[in-house]
Amino acid sequence: MGSIGVLLVSHQVIPYLEQELNKRYNLFRLWDFPQKSQLLTQHGASIRAVVGDAFAGADSDLIEALPKLEIVSSFSVGVDKIDLGKCKEKGIRVTNTPDVLTDEVADLAIGLMLTLLRRICECDRYVRGGNWKHGDYKLTTKFSGKTVGIIGLGRIGAAIAKRAEGFNCPISYYSRTQKQESKYKYYPSVVELASNCDILVVACPLTEETHHIINREVINALGPKGFLINIGRGKHVDEPELVFALLEGRLGGAGLDVFENEPHVPEELFGLENVVLLPHVGSATVETRTAMADLVLGNLEAHFLGKPLLTPLV
Ligand code: NAP
Repeated sequence: MGSIGVLLVSHQVIPYLEQELNKRYNLFRLWDFPQKSQLLTQHGASIRAVVGDAFAGADSDLIEALPKLEIVSSFSVGVDKIDLGKCKEKGIRVTNTPDVLTDEVADLAIGLMLTLLRRICECDRYVRGGNWKHGDYKLTTKFSGKTVGIIGLGRIGAAIAKRAEGFNCPISYYSRTQKQESKYKYYPSVVELASNCDILVVACPLTEETHHIINREVINALGPKGFLINIGRGKHVDEPELVFALLEGRLGGAGLDVFENEPHVPEELFGLENVVLLPHVGSATVETRTAMADLVLGNLEAHFLGKPLLTPLV
């Protein structure tokens, strides 16, 4: 398989994946070519696979420029950086990394809830700053028993629900379809869900429909005692509206793993006590990223050996 051309489009994948791809295939790294056009002219006709992630995938232009492209394998479960319609149209297969990261992202969502409501980061800064000597830290907000509303009761959403149940949190959710097998309360709109929960969690895929699913109306429905947790994608949230709401006290707080324009985070948030800001680390542990890499490698191998894909999406 050493002669098969594979294009890696993101430099953010773990070194293990890059090294294995390099060992097994004729690997091209997009960032080695200052001009993308140079790569496409010189090597475009030999590239049969693209490997991307949550930050870079395969848009329509790239797909059109690779006439021999057979498969796009993403080192992520979210495939919003891949033009799925174009892939379908051209018979290009797409794989992602579902399931292996579900626990990790759900753990982080619960971590964000606890950190935000109990102000764990602020408390840590309080001690490190030598402030404890001058008085106790102020009282915070109880997490156990709070109503958790989840947008997208899929693999990750359901894993968050299961964990939150352990904290005696009543669970409700919104998704396009009511899950008949679910015991949780269903709301047919995000605004109704937001009006009826204390903590609103975004756990759906980013699509045209879910772009800015968290808008001014939803934020106002969640209200000054409500908390927003986003472990989905940054573009789920109308970020300027979120910033205004937090600055104006119209929202209780926000725990964010993802942002609209990563790695740029609105600086107005830096001074606020009622936000927790993470650098998109939902699945970022050694164990989980290694399992994700193995899934990417397994899918490529299955494809090129003519075997069934491990996690086919298209
Ligand atoms: P999944 O199993 O496919 O679940 C997605 C859920 O979202 C489904 O229940 C689906 O239900 C719902 N949904 C789809 N379209 C919707 C819409 N328009 N409005 C409301 N709900 C909608 O996916 P997953 O494995 O749980 O992953 C979910 C997302 O998490 C990924 O797409 C990714 O963007 C994000 N993620 C983030 C990180 C991170 O590092 N922060 C890591 C992994 C994943 P219906 O079909 O009934 O609507």
